Amino acid sequence: MKICWFNNNQLGVVVNDRVYDVTAALKALPAPSYPEFTGDLVVANLPALRAEIERLLPTASSEAVADVRLLSPVAQPGKIIGVPVNYQAHVEEAQRDVAIFTNRYTGGVKEQGLFLKANSSLIGASDAVNITMPERLTHHEIELAAIIGKKVSNVTQAEALSCIAGYSIALDMTVRGPEDRSLRKSLDTYSVLGPWLVTADEIADPQNLNLHLRVNGETRQITNSSQMIMFIAEQIEWASTFYTLYPGDVIMTGTCEGVGPVVAGDTMHASIESIGEMHVKVTGSKG
Ligand code: MN
Repeated sequence: MKICWFNNNQLGVVVNDRVYDVTAALKALPAPSYPEFTGDLVVANLPALRAEIERLLPTASSEAVADVRLLSPVAQPGKIIGVPVNYQAHVEEAQRDVAIFTNRYTGGVKEQGLFLKANSSLIGASDAVNITMPERLTHHEIELAAIIGKKVSNVTQAEALSCIAGYSIALDMTVRGPEDRSLRKSLDTYSVLGPWLVTADEIADPQNLNLHLRVNGETRQITNSSQMIMFIAEQIEWASTFYTLYPGDVIMTGTCEGVGPVVAGDTMHASIESIGEMHVKVTGSKG
């Protein structure tokens, strides 16, 4: 099932080229138990919600996907986890040009560790990446995003994939330079998630998906998730030794070679096999 948020915070299910409004299913959600944090309510209750969504779907109204504004498919993630240098060819391009990338971090993913992106940076596919530091390089990074489905810590690799609610396309937008990643990758609009969440049951093998990113029609990044250095199951096992993972937490699983600059006026076209595609505009002042 492809689940999205659209227009005025409406819950949708995407079937072929149409979005079906299943907002009424939200009535099945339990009340949030503030101040206890239980993760994103929809993701946390997805198994129960799906039954209600299936019941509503045959009579739900629909609109063309092209006519709706797609919001982030996870409304309130507790955290966005980033995995650095997780494709060998990207490691090599970063090592070739430390002046553009950063000489602050060295070593592989195990040496560098994970990082976090601010939730306030999160947007959906129909919003634009807004460049507010045009004097600095902003790079695109297409990534497969895994969305955690349950509260876990210290999970084993064998259990890890069963903790995933679904997958989305992510753009880990990045200002290059010497500052900490938590600044350079957390500017407003610098975390794009979309176009929807594909539930995990629809992805037979998350380690065999083609990823493709074009800018203004020109191919920049193309790979397959089989090329990851650290696979998603190990990422979850490792992340859960540091962080308790909650429903709705997003793991951006790393980018491949071909990262490059975008400027105001560009359009990024990102696609991942079995998930979908999204066109994301870049706005802001020109440098
Ligand atoms: Mn990244």
